[in-house]
Amino acid sequence: MIKPFDPWRSPLCTCPMKWVIHPYTGCSHGCLYCYATSYIPRHNIVRAKDNFIDNLKKDIYKLPKGALVEMSSSSDPYPSIESQYNLTRRALIILLSQGFKILILTKSSLVLKDLDILKKFRDQVVVSITITTLDKTIASQLEPGAPSPSERLKTIEMLIQNGIKVTARIDPIVPFINDDFNIIKKLITELGRRGVLQVTSSTYKAKPDSLKRLIIAFPHIGKKLLEMYSKEQAENINGYRYLRADLRYSYMKMVKELVEDEGMVFASCREGFRNLNTPGFECDGSSHLYTA
Ligand code: SF4
Repeated sequence: MIKPFDPWRSPLCTCPMKWVIHPYTGCSHGCLYCYATSYIPRHNIVRAKDNFIDNLKKDIYKLPKGALVEMSSSSDPYPSIESQYNLTRRALIILLSQGFKILILTKSSLVLKDLDILKKFRDQVVVSITITTLDKTIASQLEPGAPSPSERLKTIEMLIQNGIKVTARIDPIVPFINDDFNIIKKLITELGRRGVLQVTSSTYKAKPDSLKRLIIAFPHIGKKLLEMYSKEQAENINGYRYLRADLRYSYMKMVKELVEDEGMVFASCREGFRNLNTPGFECDGSSHLYTA
C-alpha cells in the first residue's frame, strides 16, 4: 500500500526520497493534461482501494522513522467519495500520530473536512493546491471535474488561516491556454496575498492521449499545439514531448520572477532547471516541513 515514490522514471525529477500512498485509484477531476491516464486504465473512474486501511497498518512498519509520505501522486486524495469512505482521513490519523511527515496534493476543497487533524499535526504537514488559472471558463474546460479557481483560492485561504503550511502549483502551463502573462501575474499576486509559501510550476508535457484531449477541447489552437509538440519542434524526454528548452526556460523564468517578487519561494517541476529554484527548496514543498 505504501510504495517508494516513482516519477515514472523521469530523469528530470529532483524530488527527495519519499513514499507515496493512494487511498483511491483513478480521479474524477478529468484534467485534460493529466499524465496518469496514459498509465492507469479507467483513470476517470474513482475506486476506493480494497482493504486500504488494514494494508496501510501492515505496511507502516516498513517505513523509516519520520519518513516523508505523499498523498497522492497519480490521483487526488480527496475525490467526492472520500466523504463516504474517509480513507484519506483515516490514513492521515494513522500516519501523523506515528510521527510521519505528510505532503497532501489536491485540487479539492474537501481537504477542509480534515482541518481538525491538520491543525493538530500542523508541523508534520504541507498541503499543496494546484491552481492553473484564475479564468473560470478556461478552468472549466481544462479541469472539468475540479473545483473552480475561486473555490481553490478559498480553500487555500482557510488552510492558511488555520495555520497550515500551503504551497501552490501552477502546473502545468499549456501554451495558448493558460500562459497569459497578466492572468498568471494576477494569480501569483492572489496566492502571495493569502500567505502561500511556495509556488511550483511546470510546462505541459505531451502524451498522445492528453494532447488529443486538449486539441478537441481547444480546436482554435490545435494546429499551433500540434506544431509546438511535433517531433521536429519538441524534445523527447522519457516518452513525453517537451516544449523546446528555450521556451520552457522562458515560461519558468517568468513565473519565478513573479513569485519571488511576491516574496514566495519558487521551484520548477521536472523541467531540468534546478538553477531557477529558490536555493534550498524542493519542488514538492517538502522543504517547508523542515523550517519553522
Ligand atoms: S487532479 Fe491530477 S490525477 Fe486527477 S485528473 Fe487532474 S492531473 Fe489527473
